[in-house]
Order: sequence, then C-alpha cells, then structure tokens
Amino acid sequence: MALSFPELQPGVRILMGPGPSNVSPRVMKAMASPVVGHLDPDFIRTMEDIKRLLRIVFNTANEITFPVSGTGSAGMETALTNLIEEGDAVVIAAAGVFGERMADAADRLGARVQRVDAPWGRIIEPERIEAALKAAGQPKLLAIVHAETSTGAYQPVDGLGALAHRHGALMVLDAVTSLGCVPVEIDRWEVDACYSCTQKGLSAPPGLSPVTFSERAMAAVRARKTKCRSWYFDLGMIERYWGAERLYHHTAPITMNYALYEALRAVVDEGLEARFKRHRDNAAALQAGLAAMGLEPAAQEGYRLPQLAVVKTPAGIEEAQVRAALLRDYNLEIAGGLGPFKGQVWRIGTLGESSRREYVTLALGALETVLASMGVELSRGAALAAAAEAYRRVAPG
Ligand SMILES: *Cc1c(COP(=O)(O)O)cnc(C)c1O
Repeated sequence: MALSFPELQPGVRILMGPGPSNVSPRVMKAMASPVVGHLDPDFIRTMEDIKRLLRIVFNTANEITFPVSGTGSAGMETALTNLIEEGDAVVIAAAGVFGERMADAADRLGARVQRVDAPWGRIIEPERIEAALKAAGQPKLLAIVHAETSTGAYQPVDGLGALAHRHGALMVLDAVTSLGCVPVEIDRWEVDACYSCTQKGLSAPPGLSPVTFSERAMAAVRARKTKCRSWYFDLGMIERYWGAERLYHHTAPITMNYALYEALRAVVDEGLEARFKRHRDNAAALQAGLAAMGLEPAAQEGYRLPQLAVVKTPAGIEEAQVRAALLRDYNLEIAGGLGPFKGQVWRIGTLGESSRREYVTLALGALETVLASMGVELSRGAALAAAAEAYRRVAPG
C-alpha cells in the first residue's frame, strides 16, 4: 500500500516570542525567486549587495562582513573557533543562557575561561569586566551579550571595546537579538567580531548568521599558530568564497540569502532610526500594559530591552497553560523562561515585523482575558488603557 503523508498545514501565528518573529510577505516572495548556482553572476551580485547592506545595519566599514550558513549559534562558533587557540585566556561575561553558551563554547576550544558573572536580570558592570581582564593575564578576547534574551537585560556596550583593547584583548559581541531592533555600532564601539541571526530583529526565517570581523580580528586569525578547529566555519576559507576569489567552499543557501537580502532592503527602506523608534514605542506600550496588569519585569530598571519584555509569572498559576491558551485561542506565541527562569517568567517579543501596535494590543487583551479566566486578580481594561496612553505620548494627536 502506498504511503501517504498530509500536506503541510502550519498555523498562521502571531509570533511574539524571542524569535522567530513574523516574516513579511515581501521576504516570503523573495524566497520564491529562482534558485541559481552558488557561483552564478546574478547570485554573486546579490552576495555583494548583502555585504553592503550588512555594513549599513552593523554600522561598520569592515570588509569581512557576510552571513554565515547556519543560525545565530553558527555565528558564535565562527567568532570563537577562529579567534581562540587552545590555551588562550579569554574573558566571558555571562548573566544568562547566552553568555553561558559562549563560556561553554570557549571551554570546548581549550581556552582558559575567566568568567564575569552577574545575577540574572542584571547587566555586567564595566569595573568588574576590567578586573577580570586584569586577572586573566594577556587575555585574547572579551565576549559579551548585547541583548540577553533569557533575562531581557540590555547590556551597555559603548566603551567595552576600548577597555578590551587597553588590555590587549579583542572585543566579541553577541548581537543575535539586537540587530535590527536597537543600535549596533560596530566601529564606534570598537567591536572586533560580532554575530547575529536572521529570525529575530531582521524578520527573515532562521538559517543565516550575519557576522562582521574587524581588521584587528582578521590579523589575529591570520597570526594563528594552529589551524581553525572547525573546517566548516574556517574564516580563511569562507573568505575566499565571499571575497573576490569566489572559490567554492560550501554551497551557499541561495534561498536563505534571498530572504536576508529582502529583509535587509526592508530595514534600509524603513530607515534605522525610524525602526529603532518603532521598537521603542511598541515596547513602551507593551511594558506599560504589562505593568498595569501587575506583571513585574525580570530585568533591572533602566536596562530593559525595547524588543523583548521579560516579566515574572503571577504566583499560583501554571504558566504553560497560559501560553497554551494564547496559542489555541489567539494564534499568539509567547515564550516561557529558560534555565533557572523556567516556569518563572514569560518572554514577550516585539522583534522586527512583530513590533506592531495591533500585536501589542492583541497580546495585552488576550493575556488579560486568559489570566482573569484563571482567577488572577487584575483590574480589567487597565492594561489596554495604559498601552493606549503610552501610544498617545509617542504620537500625539
Ligand atoms: C537566539 C540567540 C542565540 C542563538 O541563536 P540561534 O539562531 O537560535 O542559533 C544566541 N544568542 C542570543 C542572545 C540569542 O537570543
């Protein structure tokens, strides 16, 4: 008997977790473009345009700026495996899941990892980073997360590159949840290696990791005494495909590059400043609404991400049931907590295409309705009123 499998029928969701975010029709349309060869002149032109567009969003003149094949984690592997040699001292700042991952990845490469920790939800103070750089003894690099997606903390980065350089270290930045939502200033902040992703602030499907490397980082890559431990992520080899030589290394994911190209074009069409303001405005309304519902932010005051609200779940309710009800009744996805925050927080994202007034309004109304149905005491209507007031403040009239 012939096997039969159903056609794909995924639901049309409103994606308000920490990624993936909703993908716009123009990006979906770009993905339906013809697949060409990875050395086709038409594709090579697109590759060059992607590099130029990425330099705009990263605010950099770095020649080595391109998308690694793989999700954000592939960008992390690329940065760390190319910059670290066994025995190198490295300083990793970690106050959440994604800082922990960098420490784990550096440890696997045989680095001597000097950690700077902070309680979850707090930023890492520069004085403590400086002390760790001093204690590390000839540190090869300092690595830190810009937007800690597990806690909602918004780490200030300005000044850290100069600090790393004063101690002879390279500066590595995880901008996976920040690129396209808040300013990422690679050259001004003296960042030497930075990685991001396609599915959060840029609102393309998951699959590529935009990266950028400074001349100082590339000098360190060229000065390695040992080969890069990864074949696939070896920058020296990938550079020969993404650079003028066009030497085959691996087959570029053609369709994903179309998606990234169109998503970046959309960013430039909107304008970076307008895009950041949109993220700030929707965040202000969402955060005001959540506060009016009595939900307390997990991240420290003054350092909360404008693209991801992380709030503590009310006592006495089964938080997974709330998320299940939001998905079932409203097609709305929000996320739960990771690690020690599992069961303790919700993570509600307004990333890229998902940063919209109608989504914020729906999320607040839906969450209020579900919480009230579960017996949580709250003042009905207060969240939407607070959000409307926040919108009035940013767009008078
Ligand atoms: C999502 C995320 C990652 C990992 O990216 P993937 O695309 O899931 O591989 C890394 N760092 C941060 C801060 C993230 O939010």
